[in-house]
Amino acid sequence: MISLHELSKILDLDHIKLTESELNKSATGITTDTRNLKPGEIFVALSGENFDGHNFASVAVEKGAIALILSRALSLVTDTPQLIVSDTLVAYQQIANWWRNCFDIPVIGITGSVGKTTTKELIAAVLNTQGKVLKTEANYNNEIGVPKTLLELRSGHDYAVIEMAMRATGEIALLTNLTRPTIGVITNVGTAHIGRLGSKEAIARAKCELLAQMPLSSVAILNHDNPLLLQTAAKVWHGETLTYGLAGGDLKGELLEDNILKVEGREFPLPLAGIHNASNYLAAIAVAKVLELDLDLLSPGLTVELPKGRARRYEIQDNIVILDETYNAGFESMIASLQMLKDTPGTRHLAVLGTMKELGKYSAQLHHQVGEKVKELDLDRLFVLVDEPETEAIATAAQGISYECFDNHQDLISTLQAEITKGDRILVKASNSVGLSRIVEELLKCK
Ligand code: ATP
Ligand code: MG
Repeated sequence: MISLHELSKILDLDHIKLTESELNKSATGITTDTRNLKPGEIFVALSGENFDGHNFASVAVEKGAIALILSRALSLVTDTPQLIVSDTLVAYQQIANWWRNCFDIPVIGITGSVGKTTTKELIAAVLNTQGKVLKTEANYNNEIGVPKTLLELRSGHDYAVIEMAMRATGEIALLTNLTRPTIGVITNVGTAHIGRLGSKEAIARAKCELLAQMPLSSVAILNHDNPLLLQTAAKVWHGETLTYGLAGGDLKGELLEDNILKVEGREFPLPLAGIHNASNYLAAIAVAKVLELDLDLLSPGLTVELPKGRARRYEIQDNIVILDETYNAGFESMIASLQMLKDTPGTRHLAVLGTMKELGKYSAQLHHQVGEKVKELDLDRLFVLVDEPETEAIATAAQGISYECFDNHQDLISTLQAEITKGDRILVKASNSVGLSRIVEELLKCK
């Protein structure tokens, strides 16, 4: 994959004294985690608040690392080359960027307040009908995960689909420079992390760093149904753009009965239910259009399974359906999921909701608006797990809806087990740390 000679050039380490035979050594891969290290790889010692990769350097050597990238020299029993850099994370990113630039394939970068993982999976599924795809796995979407993914590129890959997440300004710019996407997709601008960024406008600017940093020869794919996104994008992006949307856009979709999405006269079966997923799928079709792929290959429909806690649908006893959305909850995704619940045919519609985290001063207001949505949809029953004072606003705003609040998981589980009945449709959703996945696990025992 990479010789130490090349590596020292990328890292500007020409002063390092390595023997000719050491310089000619070639690594088969690069890893930051000794648990996954295979003989012949290079180990990069990352350090964080709670860990120091340097403590694992000797394990890396024992497992067959051919070189170590460190920020300080270590006295080890072996003479495994130690490449000392000022910042090991920056070094890791530089290598990943160099490696990415060795590949002349479409690289799709995705960001947005919600729907990144879903859209990434949908794009990967679409591209998979045409070639071999490298995609972000699990949550590897940050300053460590993106380089990790890029370093997994191999000559057999035809496409790469990279999710880019952010918590603060500047992060998407960094990830974009690493990834150098040929297509940049922004799913939307919402309120996730508004507690940190301060305003929706600031979030929009941060997402649009993707466009500002993308090569001008790249193509932007933007959600037309999000006016703030379009306005902000127009200020920083002057390259080719394809917009998609259910309300309008260059690529306009219409959601028909039975989860069929109609686009430009063709009908596509949707792999995932919900209006929001129709929008996400449109983004994937837009990518296929930009790449001039054969859309007929999508007509039979694709199968996409998202990671646990996202868009999972379980049927238990008595035709009771649970919509498991316990991994993630922001304001926009709450609204989208409540709509999806209402659109799921069934006898009664029940929402089991908990806190949306990281909303800062907007928390009470946004929890209140979720309650108003419950009321507007006229759901049959609302259960709220209140672990922060603001959360109760969901219940108080849902006036006229039969609701119950809980301060612990166990009481909520017992009440649900006693109450649920034939044909119920039950949405369970909160931020991951609220732990509503426990509720789903208990309900699934009734299978
Ligand atoms: P994370 O910040 O955790 O990486 P993400 O942006 O990757 O989130 P997903 O995991 O795809 O987002 O989706 C999270 C939740 O957001 C889903 O479970 C669903 O409820 C909702 N969601 C997905 N797509 C959209 C969309 N386009 N609009 C609104 N809500 C959406
Ligand atoms: Mg994600």
